[in-house]
Amino acid sequence: MTQTVSSEELYDRARALMPGGVNSPVRAFGSVGGTPRFLVSAKGPYVTDSEGREYVDLVCSWGPALVGHAHPDVLAAVHTAVDRGLSFGASTPAEADLAALVMDRVKPVERLRMVSTGTEATMTAVRLARGFTGRNLVIKFAGCYHGHLDGLLASAGSGVATLALPGSAGVTEATAAETLVLPYNDIAAVEAAFAEHGANIAAVITEAAPANMGVVTPADGFNAALSRITTAHGALLILDEVLTGFRTSPAGYWGLTGANEGWAPDLYTFGKVIGGGMPVAALGGRAEVMDYLAPLGPVYQAGTLSGNPIAMAAGVATLKAATAEVYANIDARSAQLSQAVSDALAAEGVNHSIQRAGNLFSIAFGTAEHGVHNYADALAQDTFRFKPFFHSMLDSGVYLPPSVFEAWFLSGAHDDAAMDRILAALPAAAKAAAA
Ligand code: PLP
Repeated sequence: MTQTVSSEELYDRARALMPGGVNSPVRAFGSVGGTPRFLVSAKGPYVTDSEGREYVDLVCSWGPALVGHAHPDVLAAVHTAVDRGLSFGASTPAEADLAALVMDRVKPVERLRMVSTGTEATMTAVRLARGFTGRNLVIKFAGCYHGHLDGLLASAGSGVATLALPGSAGVTEATAAETLVLPYNDIAAVEAAFAEHGANIAAVITEAAPANMGVVTPADGFNAALSRITTAHGALLILDEVLTGFRTSPAGYWGLTGANEGWAPDLYTFGKVIGGGMPVAALGGRAEVMDYLAPLGPVYQAGTLSGNPIAMAAGVATLKAATAEVYANIDARSAQLSQAVSDALAAEGVNHSIQRAGNLFSIAFGTAEHGVHNYADALAQDTFRFKPFFHSMLDSGVYLPPSVFEAWFLSGAHDDAAMDRILAALPAAAKAAAA
């Protein structure tokens, strides 16, 4: 039997060595309190901690594990790639394999550039938009998270919201001044910003469906209107599908909306699922814009480990394993689980709304009357109810995202047995939330 070590012991050690004991802030359980679990393995819909406790996982590595943890096809592809060497710093065949799979799913993507994190993808997309248009200003929406690049950290949702930070120290006023932050779902505000600053706006960047202030449904036609307005003013639309891409449908959230409504963004950003758990992200879009990137164009971007062969192998195997059955399972389980959560909370008289965008959902407490349509709504909810709810679920063996501002992630591996465990945990968690 392998030796077990308590999370407390590991956390003490980690805190002495790394800021807050973590390498990404929300992992520190800051808003829910208690000791973060240290995970040592994952298989299918389950993760196991350092003390040998197994949890049904509703984090799925914050999205990448679309086909379930340690999927046999993905592991086999990675093993094969590892045996050939870890990194060559040169082009490899697998890069084009992954690019072709992406383009097969998201038709408007004519060129793709691989990077290693979602932050790099959005950072490059913004630089490219500025280089292409020759303009400086970028519009983002309050509560949308696009990674931790300086210019997009204002009102950023995700960990910035979880830790109740106003933004980030270390971002210069000059940088912040080049970002216009507007309320989400408010087209009149976008029109007004373009009326005033149109000639200087390089791009609007938006999450295809926000999931970092909890989930928020884009109002009907919102993204289409952004496409129309940016085009009319010669600015670019950057659709951030880092979280939604290849998850909400094979063609992401755009596949549920733009593909049917007849619009496409100028640039997409992808991450998470595209690497199946390895550090891969990408930006893609119209060739005319993408070819502004070096070596063809004047906008510089590079990466020692970009297109890493092992990461590419994981991405290719993950997208191939993401069959229609996987999406059908996630869609059905998401509907079943969100209804069960709502029923359990209602049975305890807990005021809430279930926030949805495709197969993504989250709970917002105290918002039954009006739901959550923007960041102000998200911040005004009864966040204090999440902490007891979260810990009750954790004690019952269900690992939820440790923040009310995050979406719950399902996978193709979440089966009846995993669902039964979650459903059995809900009544006690709802009671805890009601207290
Ligand atoms: N964009 C969105 C919509 C995200 O949800 C995230 C991460 O959660 C990012 C960008 C940044 O990606 P990464 O954490 O890989 O830098």
